Amino acid sequence: MEKGERAAVDQSALIFLGTGCSSGVPSGRCLIQPSDPPCLVCSMSLKLPPLNNPNYRCNTSLLIDYCQINNEHNYIVIDVGKSFREQVLRWFTFYKIPRVDSVLLTHEHADAVLGLDDLHCVKQFHHDVSPIPLYATQDCLDSVVLRFPHLSKKGLTKHEVTGEVAQVDWRIIENDCEKPFIASGLQFYPLPVMHGEDYVALGFLFGDKCKVAYISDVSRFPSSTEYFISKGRGRELDLLILDTNSIILPPPEIAAEQPPPEIAAEQPEADPSIQLP
Ligand SMILES: [Zn+2]
Ligand SMILES: [Zn+2]
Repeated sequence: MEKGERAAVDQSALIFLGTGCSSGVPSGRCLIQPSDPPCLVCSMSLKLPPLNNPNYRCNTSLLIDYCQINNEHNYIVIDVGKSFREQVLRWFTFYKIPRVDSVLLTHEHADAVLGLDDLHCVKQFHHDVSPIPLYATQDCLDSVVLRFPHLSKKGLTKHEVTGEVAQVDWRIIENDCEKPFIASGLQFYPLPVMHGEDYVALGFLFGDKCKVAYISDVSRFPSSTEYFISKGRGRELDLLILDTNSIILPPPEIAAEQPPPEIAAEQPEADPSIQLP
C-alpha cells in the first residue's frame, strides 16, 4: 500500500504492527554476545533502516482499520506490548493512522500489555478525556491493574483524573467462542487457545465479507476452538493469521519418512499491510 491517508481509502485493511517474538527482533543478546558464527537474522537487522527491514520486528500486534458502510474508519489494536511506542512512531505515522478506538488483549504477558501506558498518545482527543475501550478477560484485567493501577479509575490520583494519563474503559470478555462482543462496530468471537499446557490465551475471529482468525502466541488448539473455525461449523476462514510460541515436531518415525521442507530464501515484503475486500 502507498503511504497515504487511511481515512481517504474506502476499504478495510490489516496492518501488522509487529511480528516479532517477546524480546523483539533483533535480540539484544545476539548483538552484544554474538555466537560464532553470528546469528544471521540479528546481523541483518542492522543493515537496513527499520522501516524497510523485514528482520527488524516489534512485539506481535495487529491494527484493524475497519471501514464501515458509511466509509467511517475505526481503528482497533490487538495487543499493546513492550514496543507499542515504537510501533506508533513507525507505522501510525507511515499509514497516517490518527488514533486508536478500541484495544483487545489476547493475554497479560509483557509482550502483549506493557505498552498500555502509552495509549494516551493515540486516543481520540476530547476535552472530557474519554477513555479507550479495552476488551480483556477478568483474569487479564486483574493482572494488568496490579501493574498499572492508574489504568483503573480506583487507582487514579486527583491529578491523574484530569491529566494526560492512559485511561481505559474496561470491558470484560469471556474465554468462550460462543460469547461474541462488538468493539468499535466490529463483531469479534473470542477463540480460547493454549499458551503452554497450563495457560489459556485468546485469539479472535472477525469480519463479515472476509472471515479472519488472528491467533498469536499459541502452543495448541483445543478441539472446541479448532471446530469453531472449521468448515464443518460453517466458518471456513478466508485468512488465518497464526503465530506459534513453540515448534511442534512430528514424532521421529514420521519425520524420518518426510523429506525436509524447502525454505524459500526470499525476504518478505517490508510493507506489513493487507487490504480486505
Ligand atoms: Zn539472533
Ligand atoms: Zn505470552
